[in-house]
Parts: sequence; structure tokens; C-alpha cells
Amino acid sequence: MKLGAHMPSAGSLAKTLQSGLDIGCTALQVFTSSPRQWAAKPVDPEAATEFRKLADASGLQPVISHDSYLINICEREPELRQRAINGLKAEMGRCAQYGIPLVVSHLGAWKGYETEEAALKVMAEGIKEILADTDGSVTLLGETTAGQGSSLNYRFEHLAFLIEALKGDARFGVCLDTCHIFVAGYDLRTDDAYDATWAAFDRIIGIKYLKAIHCNDSKKPFRSRVDRHEHIGKGEIGIQAFERLVNDPRFEQIPIVLETPDAPEGHVRNLNLLKSLRRP
Ligand SMILES: [Zn+2]
Ligand SMILES: [Zn+2]
Repeated sequence: MKLGAHMPSAGSLAKTLQSGLDIGCTALQVFTSSPRQWAAKPVDPEAATEFRKLADASGLQPVISHDSYLINICEREPELRQRAINGLKAEMGRCAQYGIPLVVSHLGAWKGYETEEAALKVMAEGIKEILADTDGSVTLLGETTAGQGSSLNYRFEHLAFLIEALKGDARFGVCLDTCHIFVAGYDLRTDDAYDATWAAFDRIIGIKYLKAIHCNDSKKPFRSRVDRHEHIGKGEIGIQAFERLVNDPRFEQIPIVLETPDAPEGHVRNLNLLKSLRRP
């Protein structure tokens, strides 16, 4: 199983990767630039080569990148929308240079629209433009969100709508966040709830579109639609769901990454806990 964490920047991207390897990650998520700024430095070709070499030698693939939190590709104002689309294209471009095959994005919110569906249509058009203008080696993953504010993709149907609009383009997939789906109303706490949630995911989206999992417990209750990550087993979801997850044969090849608090020290504890839940 590929288990790891979103590692905070350790300087260069190769150093960040090494810090993940040092704590025993076999999956990794990074930022390729500051997640709270629009401006990003161009990728230094030497830094990209160094990162690629280490990623290949370590066997830790696929590495995942998370895009900037500022990006909303269905922004109502055309100028702002284009800035967001260009920002995501630039992120995909940096990933192509680093050899990072997966980019996770929250994609956007429906603020300013009459309906969620109207915004989802604009979102799908934005994704089409992004995929058309970026390197074929990079796949974009829409993340399941908590549905905080007017965020879209808090229902599996939203992501299914995008997949359908993109005619199942293989360069668009899904990243499921356990904390987000739980607060959005998909329960995981009991065996029955865990099975029902994954059955719904498979029926509505399709397991084959799942390319990454964010593994987080939740500080906030079921259906609260508030996004606050908690250490594994210390939150409202509880340990049982995570024990199921790390022993679920369907996810043997899917990178599972922690985005829990107190990185990187907290990641060591949570990662060791996840590993201890694995049954031989
Ligand atoms: Zn997440
Ligand atoms: Zn979150």
C-alpha cells in the first residue's frame, strides 16, 4: 500500500521528497509553489532533474501536487476566471517539468451563480481548456470538498457531472478526502456506513476514476460542512474507518496521504499508526 503525507516545504522539492522518505512515506503530496500566492517562480531545470532522479530512485510514485487555495475556475468575473484557469495551467506545467503526474484541485465555488449546475457547466468548460493546453503527462484530480461556503464537489454527483461533461477524459480523475466527505454527509464510522459510502462512490462516480485519497480525521461533526482536519482516530470519524481503509484491497495501488495537523511531527505519529493498522 502507498501511505504517506503532504510534506511541508523543506527548501527544494527534492529536499521535501527526502523528508517524506525519512519518515517512511511511500506516497507523497507537495506544493510546487506557495498555496496562498498567485505569483510562482519558474522551475529551475536543475532542481527538476534532482527531484526526478530522487523520485525514480526511491520508487515513490506517483507524487501528488496540491494546487493553490486561491484557484476558483468558475469565478463569475471573466477576468478573474481566466486568472484562475491560467494559474491551474501553470501548476500543471510545473508538474510536467518535475515529472509529477497528479494535480489535486478543489476547482471552485458557485458564488455568484443562480444554481450549482450553472457553475458546474462553467467549471467543466474551464477544465476542458486546462487539459487542452497542458502536457498529457499530467492528470487533474477534482477533490471531494467539505461543501464549506459555496464550494462545489461536496456531492459525488458534482464530480460525476464533470466526468460526464469531459466524456470520461482519462486526464481527469478524483481525489477523495475522508474528512471532507464525512462532514459533507457521507458516513464512514461503522462497517455498514463505510460500505454504503464506497458503494455510492462507485455507483455515482466509478472507482476507476479514484486516483488519490486524502486520509484525515475530522474535528467537526458529521454533516457540519466545516473543514477542520484532525489526527487519525482522534476525531469524529474514529479509528475504525481508517483500519478499513488501509486494509481495503481496492486501494492497494492508490496513494493515500495524510493532511493532518502538526506537520511534520504529527505525520510521523499518524503514519506509524496507519501502518500499525495494516493486517498481514
Ligand atoms: Zn484534502
Ligand atoms: Zn480539508
